[in-house]
Amino acid sequence: MGMDTFSPPFCARASCIHHQPNHSLPYHAYVPWGFYHTKAFGKVPRYRCTTCGKTFSRQTFSLDYYAKHIHSYQNIIQRLASCESLSAIGRALDASTDTIANRISRASRQSLALHATLSECLHPDEDVVADGFESFCRSQYFPNNITLLVGANSQYVYAADHVTLRRKGRMTEVQKKTRAKLEARWKPEPGGVERSFSRIAHETLRIYAEGRRSPLTLWTDEHKAYTRALAGSPHLALLLQHGFIRHSVVSSRAARTTRNPLFPVNYLDRELRKDLHEHVRETVCFGRNVNRQMERLSVYLFWHNSMKRHRAREGPSCNVDYVNNDVKRGIRDLRSMWEWRSWRTLTELSDWMIETWERLRITPLSKKPDYLPGYALM
Ligand SMILES: [Zn+2]
Repeated sequence: MGMDTFSPPFCARASCIHHQPNHSLPYHAYVPWGFYHTKAFGKVPRYRCTTCGKTFSRQTFSLDYYAKHIHSYQNIIQRLASCESLSAIGRALDASTDTIANRISRASRQSLALHATLSECLHPDEDVVADGFESFCRSQYFPNNITLLVGANSQYVYAADHVTLRRKGRMTEVQKKTRAKLEARWKPEPGGVERSFSRIAHETLRIYAEGRRSPLTLWTDEHKAYTRALAGSPHLALLLQHGFIRHSVVSSRAARTTRNPLFPVNYLDRELRKDLHEHVRETVCFGRNVNRQMERLSVYLFWHNSMKRHRAREGPSCNVDYVNNDVKRGIRDLRSMWEWRSWRTLTELSDWMIETWERLRITPLSKKPDYLPGYALM
């Protein structure tokens, strides 16, 4: 579907019977409703649904809905995944940092929608490995833990769940006082790692249910919260008890070689610290907002899963092909994902994805929830 041959694929009103796209019975219940002019997109046609009366335009379906300038999403993603800061990307593209952040938000929702589509049709046949990636947001006093669920052979990332933790470990007296002062204003809820891992456990269950491997092994280190989270999920506990899913643990002190079962997450940990500017050790460009940080990570993971070559030089070209070589051919809209917007109303997401898409996470010390443009919920 190009811009010239456009016809609305469905009605824009979520409650209309013509909102669900029906590929065998294309949407015809609309009439042309004039045009409007924009600098960036020229003459934009409008339509009116004859069933519910909703009016909308071609731009309603465009990924650049409400945008005033066109920038290449693939260029921005490539730069973001090459350790460029937002301001450096802005300078290269002659755009403001806000504009780049806005495009990354849009790209993150496209990435999540693709991820949702993929998780329905990947049917993986591999074990999975989970581990926490440690970084921070806003200040070193608010460390966070991003648990990554990675394919043991493919290095495909199945899930990324975020939680802000309380700063622990060795601190000077001054640091302890600073922490107490900050915690008087904002304090993370205890039990974060366990709650976060419950969501990872849920995703593991889904991989088992949709996948081709039985028994399926989940590899982790010896973190006690993981075992508690697994035992806390009734379905998973049952599958573990009957040996359909196995939980195997490796000491985090074991040598970090390619033969270590945790290698896929160790590898990803290293890549993230090398490729994403805000996670480079001792960076001054650290994240200031948790939701923005997770949007950038989602875009990075899209790049990691679907654009970047798999670690091995031979064989499938990227990690998603490594999981299932046929899957990309089956996806209708892969090429148009940087042209047409994914709709929240039409996308089924796991909890960790909803938190990113809808910006539901709370940034330490922030007083109000993050702003989300209305179109992101359409
Ligand atoms: Zn309608």
